[in-house]
Amino acid sequence: MEQKKVKRKIRSYPIVVLSVFFAGLFGVMLIYISYYSYAHRQVLMNNSYNTRQQILVKQNSRGTIYSRDGDVLAYSQVDESGAETRVYPYGREFAHVVGYSTHGRAGIEYMANYYLINTSIDLSDKVALDTKGVKYPGDNCTSTLDVALQEVAFNALSARKGAVVVSDPTTGEILAMVSKPDFEPSSISAEWDSLLQDKSPDAKLLNRATQGLYPPGSTFKIVTALAYIKDHPSDYDNYRFTCSGRFTIDDESISCFHGETHGSEDFTSSFANSCNSSFANIGTGISRKVFKTTLDQLLFGKDLPLDMLYSKSRAAIDESTSVGDVMQLSIGQGATAMTPMHLNMITCAIANKGVLMKPYLIQQIKSADGRVIKSYSPEVCRHLMTQEQAATLTGMMEAVVEQGTASRLKGLSYTCAGKTGSAEFNSSSSDSHAWFTGFAPADDPKICVTIIVENAGSGGSFAVPIAKRIFDAYFGAE
Ligand SMILES: [Zn+2]
Repeated sequence: MEQKKVKRKIRSYPIVVLSVFFAGLFGVMLIYISYYSYAHRQVLMNNSYNTRQQILVKQNSRGTIYSRDGDVLAYSQVDESGAETRVYPYGREFAHVVGYSTHGRAGIEYMANYYLINTSIDLSDKVALDTKGVKYPGDNCTSTLDVALQEVAFNALSARKGAVVVSDPTTGEILAMVSKPDFEPSSISAEWDSLLQDKSPDAKLLNRATQGLYPPGSTFKIVTALAYIKDHPSDYDNYRFTCSGRFTIDDESISCFHGETHGSEDFTSSFANSCNSSFANIGTGISRKVFKTTLDQLLFGKDLPLDMLYSKSRAAIDESTSVGDVMQLSIGQGATAMTPMHLNMITCAIANKGVLMKPYLIQQIKSADGRVIKSYSPEVCRHLMTQEQAATLTGMMEAVVEQGTASRLKGLSYTCAGKTGSAEFNSSSSDSHAWFTGFAPADDPKICVTIIVENAGSGGSFAVPIAKRIFDAYFGAE
């Protein structure tokens, strides 16, 4: 009898251990699921399979999206039967950045969806609406977008393909974002199938500002210059070069744009003249390790701190990279590809003493009765370079305006710093995309502008005038 009892005790011991183990495991899983559901509540809510989302859409009318000044960018018209029509008063102008609320959503419509379909009005208001059989109004979103700047950017790009990004380098607020070709957001449902099927270079759904990968051309000389300054901190200023219009190493040659010959140059004038020969020389004079570290620090091939859909930029170097490829990399050609948004972020960091602020598009969420539900504030993202390096690059970008390829921005009521680019995208011809990236005022930057005009020609001739129209509008200098 005694023996039996002992045996039963021994047998039940593992069962107790297992029970405790599984209870513990279950507890951990429960905590994890609760945490995950909370931390990812917006993602889960935006999942179209989520039935809670369907219930909210039936119960609440979708909130309104405003510009920073309170202009309506998107709102819902509700008819007597409760059916909603989404209206975009500015149509194509804000197509990509405001986005759409059907077919999976995009832009701010996607980013703010969780709030737009929820409501935060008082219970008493809900009861009053219930008695009338009216939907509850969803929460409203105030964006960082500036209608005047968006309009100027949209009109300045005219019928060209390309993109414009305008931001505040000190806060990270995105003030304008244009991508062309575009679409009419109000009629997106009717056109959806053809829009989705279009995978050509003319695809309209692609937000070229954040997803378009382009050869950065000479705008990339900002990156090469930074890598050189880091590799030669005490003597980069002693750099001298004589441009004969072409630079050759081991049968690999780089020519200056349109066969120009720049003659005797230093580091700054090589940059201001956008001399390809000198920059191929500079690039091959940088330690590959330092070049690579610079690319890593500037987030090439890495995740960007963006809440919207984007492509990762491509620029790479290691010990096995051929000299020819290093020369191409140094002038932003070859396999190098960048999005306008990424270039805008690097430019913003230069303007903001080396500090990249997290780019953002949503300023505030308010309930329909005006209570603030959530506010977004400027957030330091990371240091892309030192303050001293940012100051040196700013001085070089000022020289581009004062004596170089962006001279159309010289002698205005405000000062500018920038870099042009004419990026060849077709090796069999001299077709080029026109780039400009820069900021103003040069000594106290308030606005940062990045522009690409596809297949237009030189940056100085085609992108700089667009930048000037945007700067003029911002500073009231029209
Ligand atoms: Zn040259």
